Amino acid sequence: MSEVENLVIVGSGPSGYTAAIYAARAQLNPIIYEGSVTAGGALMNTTEVENFPGFIDGIMGPDLMDAMRKQAKRFGANLITDDIVEMDLSGPIKVLKDGSGNTVKAKSVILAMGSAYREIGLENEKRLSGRGVSWCATCDGFFFRDQTIAVVGGGDSAVEEATFLTKFASKVVLIHRRDSLRASKIMAERALSNPKIEMLWNTEVIDVLGAEKVEALSLKNTVTGEVSKRDFTGLFVAIGHDPRNELVKDQVTLDAEGYVVVENGSTRTNLTGVFACGDLVDHTYRQAITAAGTGCQSALDAEKFLSHH
Ligand code: NAP
Repeated sequence: MSEVENLVIVGSGPSGYTAAIYAARAQLNPIIYEGSVTAGGALMNTTEVENFPGFIDGIMGPDLMDAMRKQAKRFGANLITDDIVEMDLSGPIKVLKDGSGNTVKAKSVILAMGSAYREIGLENEKRLSGRGVSWCATCDGFFFRDQTIAVVGGGDSAVEEATFLTKFASKVVLIHRRDSLRASKIMAERALSNPKIEMLWNTEVIDVLGAEKVEALSLKNTVTGEVSKRDFTGLFVAIGHDPRNELVKDQVTLDAEGYVVVENGSTRTNLTGVFACGDLVDHTYRQAITAAGTGCQSALDAEKFLSHH
């Protein structure tokens, strides 16, 4: 590494890798911190991506990320499979520390940390995490062969997880707090017509029961208030994501929901030389293709900034 880098990209996923591809092609010699366990981002935990343009028959999420990664590498991006654990973005030279104790200085930084799974917020959800409670069907679905499991949520993630889990489970009960799904029509219809999926409408999970592993859920009807208990051996939580802003929350401007605020029509944050893209910024679209799009914008913004400074 040189003494002061042109650009450090923090986070991978479609936004970070696309920023790296563009910045590398612009000969900025970018460094991209991919994350030690989160490299590739949310798409590493999905199955088939059917709507990323250019793939007529769809592509598996991890394969798409692997291809973007290799493309960034081909143009000379310096990929580091480690985390940034501290950042000081205030001055003209940004100072970042990684998980191995190295300090990196840079003239510009692209924030592409994405988002993290949202939790229901129950004490026993945490306690039984990895013991029946999971946030990743593709990672853990295999362990629930021939069992009855619950999925919580009503968005695309929940119906995608529920549909995927029918490969293993004997029955999947999709628990949603309202009486209609938020998921896209095509994915919702696929789930609703699957004979292995049962819908439990207007229902909230209020507790996860079990001493060593998940045995049952305590449920509350959101219309009648009635509380009931139902046996399940697994609970998959798919209720959305929150932006991963921990490292920058006291430095860059965030909106009320914790997303990084960027100047209209650009990826510029309130700090000079600091840009942000992907799910860290976007609470509206949150698609792989929109994340890649803003990743591209952030590299072009950084390039322009560097050429003026
Ligand atoms: P989402 O669209 O925000 O949906 C979250 C769901 O969880 C909503 O149904 C919400 O209920 C429910 N929920 C939120 N907090 C809850 C709580 N505390 N308790 C119980 N339920 C709760 O999130 P997502 O499904 O993760 O999708 C995020 C984005 O990624 C979307 O833009 C989606 O289109 C995209 N995505 C796309 C694909 C694909 O195209 N293949 C796959 C996955 C995700 P309400 O409906 O009542 O708000």
